[in-house]
Amino acid sequence: MDTIQVTLPDGSTEQVPRGTTPAEIARKISQGLAREALVARVDGELIDLSRPLEENTALRILTAKDPEALQVFRHSAAHLLAAAVLELFPDVKLGIGPPIDYGFFYEFLREQPFTPEDLERIEKKMHELAARDLPNERKLVPKAEAIELYKTWDQGFKCELVEEKAVEPMVSFYTTGKFIDFCRGPHIPSTGRIRAFKLMNVAGAYWKGQEGNPQMQRVYGACFFTQQELDEYLHRLEEAKRRDHRRLGPELDLFSIQEEAGPGLIFWHPKGGLVRKLMEDWLRDELLRRGYQLVFTPHIMRLDLWKTSGHTNFYRDSMFGAMRSSARSIATSVPAYCTASCACVASRRMTRTSSACPARSKRRSRPALISRSR
Ligand SMILES: [Zn+2]
Repeated sequence: MDTIQVTLPDGSTEQVPRGTTPAEIARKISQGLAREALVARVDGELIDLSRPLEENTALRILTAKDPEALQVFRHSAAHLLAAAVLELFPDVKLGIGPPIDYGFFYEFLREQPFTPEDLERIEKKMHELAARDLPNERKLVPKAEAIELYKTWDQGFKCELVEEKAVEPMVSFYTTGKFIDFCRGPHIPSTGRIRAFKLMNVAGAYWKGQEGNPQMQRVYGACFFTQQELDEYLHRLEEAKRRDHRRLGPELDLFSIQEEAGPGLIFWHPKGGLVRKLMEDWLRDELLRRGYQLVFTPHIMRLDLWKTSGHTNFYRDSMFGAMRSSARSIATSVPAYCTASCACVASRRMTRTSSACPARSKRRSRPALISRSR
């Protein structure tokens, strides 16, 4: 028989017929693992549990205990959202739908904006489709056929994506109910496990993020492996709202942010100023107690120094533009004090005798500098 060797995470090996799937191997290991399995990692790459294994390989079956399975899980939740939206609004045009750090989004083109009531209906439909445990099935289709499929379906954005992104002659598709997505995957086997989610909001976004392109409606959802994790996340959001410094600052008369001055610029009021002083004093005393030394450096310096330090090459986008003072440019940078601190050390090396170099605290073996600004 034509067999391949599969190496499991504990180092043990299995000889299995070529074409065996990770799902079949999970079942061989235990019924529990087969039930919990979400996706497989094969030589570092994540694949569907239903993908046949063709070569000798290292295999790991991922469950809800593996953080990397969460992205796949959330991507499948995005597909579930699209499937639900297509059931309720069959005329929407589909954009993209990736996982994000607390869940997922999918974007749609539709004349009318989605209302909060629409979101409720969509969420209900998602639960319905999840309860039906629809399989997420992968199919390979020739590129030309893929484009034809989307043309017939009048899904122009998807046509565009296939034309631009499909490099191989065969293109992978995933179907979930009525939803068919041009998608590299992988996905979890079916919709049944996706229970802990909540649609959060809708936001406008230009197609492909380019101004002038059609305005898509992005439906955002939070999604976790368990209801408890989702509840905790929603609770944290509520708490963050309660503790929002933009609300608390003015309410407690600590500071204000003034629209005329600019966003994020803080005006400290007397009470806030005192709190700030107490914290700064504590921090500085603590650093000195721990053997750090204190230096003060300028906020702005000649551009040449930022060139030497490499900042203008790598961080130009987050630096303030250069100002001209006499013949030479001066640039400011946020929030990197390393350049100025290095300049400090260099200057001390130059002015001290060689026996005193490099600058080093006697109490500690490592040179330590804190530079302070603002
Ligand atoms: Zn997808």
